Amino acid sequence: MNLNYPITYINGISANRAALLFSELGIKTCNDLLNFFPFRYIDKTQFYKIKDLKPNSSEVQIVGKITSIKSVAQKRGSRLVAKLQDSSGTVELVWFKGQKWIKDSLKINEPYVAYGKLNYYNGSFSMPHPELELATAYEKKLQTKMQPVYPSTEKLTNVGVSNKLIRTYIQNLLQQFYDGIQENLSLKIIDDFKLMHKRDALLNIHFPKNQENLTKAEYRLKFEELFFIQLQLVRKKLINKTKIKGFVFEKVGALFNDFYKDKLPFDLTNAQKRVLKEVRKDVASGAHMNRLLQGDVGSGKTIVALLTMLLALDNNFQATIMAPTEILANQHFVSVSELVDGLNIKVAILTGSVKTKKRREIHEGLEDGSLHILIGTHALLEDKVKFKNLGIAIIDEQHRFGVKQRAKLWSKNKLPPHILVMTATPIPRTLAMSVYGDLDISVIDELPPGRKQVKTVHRFDSNRLSVFKFMKDQIAQGRQIYVVYPLIQESEAMDYKDLMDGYESISREFLSPNYQISIVHGKMKPADKEFEMQRFVKGETQIMVATTVIEVGVNVPNASVMVIESSERFGLSQLHQLRGRVGRGADQSYCILLSSFKLSAEAKTRLKTMVETTDGFKIAEVDLKLRGPGNIMGTQQSGVLNLKIADVVKDSQILVNARNTAIEVLQEDPNLSKVENVPISQAFVKMSKSSKIWSNIS
Ligand code: ADP
Ligand code: MG
Repeated sequence: MNLNYPITYINGISANRAALLFSELGIKTCNDLLNFFPFRYIDKTQFYKIKDLKPNSSEVQIVGKITSIKSVAQKRGSRLVAKLQDSSGTVELVWFKGQKWIKDSLKINEPYVAYGKLNYYNGSFSMPHPELELATAYEKKLQTKMQPVYPSTEKLTNVGVSNKLIRTYIQNLLQQFYDGIQENLSLKIIDDFKLMHKRDALLNIHFPKNQENLTKAEYRLKFEELFFIQLQLVRKKLINKTKIKGFVFEKVGALFNDFYKDKLPFDLTNAQKRVLKEVRKDVASGAHMNRLLQGDVGSGKTIVALLTMLLALDNNFQATIMAPTEILANQHFVSVSELVDGLNIKVAILTGSVKTKKRREIHEGLEDGSLHILIGTHALLEDKVKFKNLGIAIIDEQHRFGVKQRAKLWSKNKLPPHILVMTATPIPRTLAMSVYGDLDISVIDELPPGRKQVKTVHRFDSNRLSVFKFMKDQIAQGRQIYVVYPLIQESEAMDYKDLMDGYESISREFLSPNYQISIVHGKMKPADKEFEMQRFVKGETQIMVATTVIEVGVNVPNASVMVIESSERFGLSQLHQLRGRVGRGADQSYCILLSSFKLSAEAKTRLKTMVETTDGFKIAEVDLKLRGPGNIMGTQQSGVLNLKIADVVKDSQILVNARNTAIEVLQEDPNLSKVENVPISQAFVKMSKSSKIWSNIS
């Protein structure tokens, strides 16, 4: 007997039933059924005192005496109400159906056990249509177990496959196969975390003796689930490290040192120094670097990228930065060019709008090695772009690139260049462990000194006039202002109309020649966009009206006010990104969230969060709670999040333990060949065969 047998081997399951269980619930083997977990339990192991009942209790069991019974007239017909009293209080038992029969059979002043769902109204509890049994009868068949309730479908219920029947199947299964359930963790892990053994965990997840056993069973199964995922991720990372050779940047040379000594415009923050150290260790190790750099907007990722590129150049390699938009690529190009001015480094930019002649020059420079740093957009990925010796590829704002595109960067060399992925959308640590569990992660968790926190307020549309006045005051003080409109594909036409209407109303309020206004949106030609951007960058215009094209990367330190129109329509991470466009200079900056009066509960939470904090990681945590892990940027395609029992948000502590344990195990026994790890390795081999989590990760 073995758990891979089809469920027809279980007593009582016919071929017909088996076919139905497969088509309705995907259950085919005994193992499938064993791992089909209840979603809740009926707890008849506990009795509640009436005074301890809580308004939000679900089903409860009470023992008490019926002190009175009466019919109460109501709009249509009547209801039967009995008072059940214990030593601590009274609840009402209520029936709408079968009243006569019940009334005749109830015995006054005899102890009963009542079980059912509680309603709470006007300070008192009632229990409609309770399961009711004389305490003497109840005691004879004393219930000591919690009853599992399984997910089901209408079709199953209709043909009589009730919850009770499924319970029987699983009971039979456990009776027949219990001895065949194998432990898949090592004794050491079981000891370290005081885990329930696998057999007991499965027994108790289906038929828990009590709440305590259930909690232990759940913990064990969650741990196991997360552990095996982490084991795969960590192992993949180790294989990358040992099997995939990387270029070695042996020396820290003249470029890096000269720049660091003479050209660095500021002292690095401790966080920047730490990250740089992590990167330097990677690129000198001989292994291939695959590192994710998380840092809030404005935390100073660019300088880390530049210093990393200088390391590559010092070792006669080329370097590239890929950005998601032309505006951002341009911005990188300008700031990198300025920073390395005088260092005899050749930098070029390649985007869709670079002319053929210039393009050819770039191609040649890349191939003969005379061009050192290339900055660009997706245009970098074209087949014609070939490097002589690409040592490192830096990808900015990674969530906008797909995995395929990253893979394409790899193929540009004999050996894969080192990869540094920079993102300003912080992913909560525990989520990152799952989704990016096979990457190394660095975090810049400190802003450069002297930054003033952006002051954020929420205003309703009806206060627009006072917002306009505030804008005028700020402009009078020499500041510049962004006004941003949402642009969503599904409502694109309407959104463009809103943008244009808004632009007009601002133009009426902020009249030329005193005020100059730029407008930038996705329907403009790149050249026009660039022209308008430049006017704003140079300070020729005071107001920039835009859609979210300015979301990423734009750096205008003198812009100190961000007005976000219809802010209730933006997601949290987008709002946070937008706010990051201001607060880059020395002046106090402001973010004004405009919204209509009607707000959903979720929108309220988003706006409130924005007003309360500027910490990107906190915002990411709230976002994760609001939307669930599957909807966070960059995680959508990840199979890592299809969990059976664990929850990356709620079980984050178990996740951390599971990951650390996986790391420990693999450090001591990379091939899982030690005797004590045999249970792990057997389970691991089986899982790797069936699991698809690999293919979706970089
Ligand atoms: P982001 O992480 O959003 O890409 P940037 O690299 O654009 O941030 O840096 C934001 C601003 O902070 C830039 O103007 C940059 O010159 C400045 N900056 C970066 N690091 C420091 C530092 N250590 N001290 C002072 N200013 C810094
Ligand atoms: Mg940046």
